[in-house]
Amino acid sequence: MVEILPHAHTGAHTGDRLHRRGLMFILSSPSGAGKTSIARRILESDGEIAASISATTRAPRPGEVDGKDYYFVSQAEFDRMVDDNEFFEWAHVFGKSYGTPKAHIRAGLKEGRDFLFDIDWQGTQQLSQKAGTDVVRVFILPPSLEELHRRLVGRGTDSEAVINSRMNRARAEISHWDSYDYVVVNEDFDACYEEVRQILCAERLKRVRQTGLIPFVRELLQDEDEGEE
Ligand code: 5GP
Repeated sequence: MVEILPHAHTGAHTGDRLHRRGLMFILSSPSGAGKTSIARRILESDGEIAASISATTRAPRPGEVDGKDYYFVSQAEFDRMVDDNEFFEWAHVFGKSYGTPKAHIRAGLKEGRDFLFDIDWQGTQQLSQKAGTDVVRVFILPPSLEELHRRLVGRGTDSEAVINSRMNRARAEISHWDSYDYVVVNEDFDACYEEVRQILCAERLKRVRQTGLIPFVRELLQDEDEGEE
């Protein structure tokens, strides 16, 4: 008979699940298409995925915590990390340096933990080159540019000039939709969230990620052989 409970001696299961390798889940979209809200909901509702924590040379803002919001480092330390190839990718943004450190992500992936990245198409391209099959890329599109414009105006935080520049950047970002694995149109927030969640579920079940499958299936077949004897 096949035992469904954990097989402690094989290490195939963690709890009642097969052990798997974690994944790097990238969400990109033009600003206003809902990516940040979707990312927040996934992080709140799913205990197996955490936000990737970047290193930056900018000063912490009030309330920001080192090691939670960012790793706040000096320029000298950042430069050393670049020299020692410690980043998956890095960039200068608004005169400061930002990068995605490899170490804690690599360790987490091995333990079956997932990481969520809220990054643009350029960061996505760099991560894909460095992290290959660990990466799952999801692009969120607005239902129309009129709707995107309406959402940006609706936030009530930006001037017309800022909104126009965001719209231009949105067009440029959208033009990279075809370098993603999945594309979801955010017509309705709940439906879009559900689709993104289903992508995450399906990707976790990919055979190559389920590293516990080999010992599990071996035991499954052994149990059958023993039953026949
Ligand atoms: P902020 O200083 O407001 O937290 O972030 C400024 C910008 O830096 C944002 O556009 C954010 O997406 C970008 N950023 C944050 N972390 C990283 C990172 O690890 N790599 C890259 N390329 N950009 C980042």
